[in-house]
Amino acid sequence: MPLLRGHHLICLHFFNGEGYDKAFIKNLMHTLSLAEKEIITVSSGADNVCAGCCHLKQDKCRYAENAEESIRQMDAKALMLLGLSYNDQIEWDTLQNRIPEIFSEWVSSYCRECSWRGVCAKDTFYRKLSVK
Ligand code: SF4
Ligand code: SF4
Repeated sequence: MPLLRGHHLICLHFFNGEGYDKAFIKNLMHTLSLAEKEIITVSSGADNVCAGCCHLKQDKCRYAENAEESIRQMDAKALMLLGLSYNDQIEWDTLQNRIPEIFSEWVSSYCRECSWRGVCAKDTFYRKLSVK
């Protein structure tokens, strides 16, 4: 059963095959394929995507200084927007149907400053929501 943290419940909808390295991408693709067919459980911290990430050290995100705190705040905001709490269970399609409603707030809160924006902006779903 896939375990996903708050911001991944949003950002993964725009995954387009790019990531930190080959191992990360492979693990993310596997996690995503599970998430699309099995019930997802909301994680309170590091999840199945983080498990394949070179920035995860001792179960904490070390992407940058203070990354763990800022990522947890991002997760909390994502869950608030999606109306979810830790340990909730949800299907991928249900999540995807909620993305259009929360997209503009997510973009103004996080995407504008995100180093992955150029990657997400290539995604068809992201582009479709951006022109609304
Ligand atoms: S460890 Fe940090 S950078 Fe890596 S996937 Fe998790 S949240 Fe993202
Ligand atoms: S631009 Fe960044 S914050 Fe926005 S959806 Fe993409 S990865 Fe997530």
